Amino acid sequence: MSAARGRFAPSPTGDLHLGNARTALLAWLDARSQGGVFVLRMEDLDPQRSRPAAAVQILDDLKWLGLDWEEGPDLGGAFAPYEQSRRAEIYRVAVERLLDDGRAFRCSCSRADVARAAGAPHASEEGARYPGTCRAGPAQPGGPTAVRLRVDAGSVSFVDRVAGAQSFDVAAAGDFVMQRADGVAAYQLAVAVDDAAMGITRVVRGDDLLSSTPRQLLVYRALGLPPPEFAHVPLLVGADGQRLAKRGGALALGALRARGVRPERLVGWLAATAGVGDGQAAQPGELVAGFRIDRVVREPAVVTESALAEL
Ligand code: GLU
Repeated sequence: MSAARGRFAPSPTGDLHLGNARTALLAWLDARSQGGVFVLRMEDLDPQRSRPAAAVQILDDLKWLGLDWEEGPDLGGAFAPYEQSRRAEIYRVAVERLLDDGRAFRCSCSRADVARAAGAPHASEEGARYPGTCRAGPAQPGGPTAVRLRVDAGSVSFVDRVAGAQSFDVAAAGDFVMQRADGVAAYQLAVAVDDAAMGITRVVRGDDLLSSTPRQLLVYRALGLPPPEFAHVPLLVGADGQRLAKRGGALALGALRARGVRPERLVGWLAATAGVGDGQAAQPGELVAGFRIDRVVREPAVVTESALAEL
């Protein structure tokens, strides 16, 4: 059996907040408890949304928490580069392969075309199933085309190490985008290509991505790549039930640091919200012994103002 390799793959679109920090800690504990390697990958795929300063800050915040990694944007490693913005050629080759194998096709439809053809004029593309317009060739040849994966009817099943047995009707999503019309790879393609290329064996991430996993499994399948094991951990939510990502900057690690919160205190508390440790201040390394990702709390953890004030 090959050694465990875990990863954290933040998108540098804003500050690292408490919820991301908790996911990073759990992914790190999972890799370390297996004696495995931890990889950091910067998912700065979208040039419009990514901010270089945020990428620098995220690395700094993770180090402040006491997390470390063997491979990453700052360290390099055998599978460099570790920034998606520098891996465009790798994605292009994967997309070409899908096209050559007939597993993907070029599509000239705009979002509005998809919504209209699906009979839902006001629906966003996410809400409208792609009706297969360009399966036999672009409806409007000559212009810019996206590339879509051909999705056949059926379901995709997998066992998530936290969320349990999952089964999704993949045809419901329709043929989804691998490469946008502007040439940028889609997240679903890049994440699967990268996790496979970097030899990741264990993916631990927030359960907002659980419903993306079946599509990623289809990408693995289409490219003949072995998928990792998945563990989707429940997110931290505010007292109003809203995901923390949707709340203001007060929950950014930078704001907590500026307020004088100690990293060991935060680590101990974040771990306890997942049912790990006793809530006392701790270095990440002190929580490794006996850690099991399949024992983390399965309900979203609620962050109250008073808990934050006590940090
Ligand atoms: N970059 C994604 C995000 O920050 C996470 C991707 C993943 O963990 O697979 O939401």
